[in-house]
Amino acid sequence: MVPSAKKYTLKFVTKEKFREDIYNFYFSTINDQLIIWLPGQYLQLSLPHDADERGTSRFFTIASAPTEKKIMLTIKEGESSFKKVLFALTPGETVNAFGPMGKFVLDGD
Ligand SMILES: Cc1cc2nc3c(=O)[nH]c(=O)nc-3n(C[C@H](O)[C@H](O)[C@H](O)COP(=O)(O)OP(=O)(O)OC[C@H]3O[C@@H](n4cnc5c(N)ncnc54)[C@H](O)[C@@H]3O)c2cc1C
Repeated sequence: MVPSAKKYTLKFVTKEKFREDIYNFYFSTINDQLIIWLPGQYLQLSLPHDADERGTSRFFTIASAPTEKKIMLTIKEGESSFKKVLFALTPGETVNAFGPMGKFVLDGD
């Protein structure tokens, strides 16, 4: 069964360079919230800020396995105000997330 989407607050843990302008971002839940997702699903991240015309949220595929504790998102650098705020996050800062979403997952068979 595909898990239903909910609002979460995620704590930014760290980011590491994957290659060139691509970084792996790691987030944890707060208050021991449990996020259940299936491989192939994605989240909407929202970063309230004085945004450019492209807005305050983006979708990102969850790149970590559902068995891992931290949420890893693999994200390309960009010039939007959203990406500038995202890439300036410091450990412990929180972001708003909604998900998991997406039905492009393996079925039970
Ligand atoms: C289901 C789903 C999953 C996704 N998963 C990932 C993921 O895992 N990793 C990832 O990095 N991204 C992912 N994306 C894409 C992500 O949501 C962002 O759109 C992407 O990272 C680019 O963000 P951005 O803020 O740099 O550019 P955006 O604002 O999203 O725009 C995308 C591109 O369009 C052009 N553009 C748009 N508006 C303008 C403008 N006003 N002026 C000039 N150029 C403009 C730019 O070239 C820009 O790079 C996913 C999207 C979807 C729908």
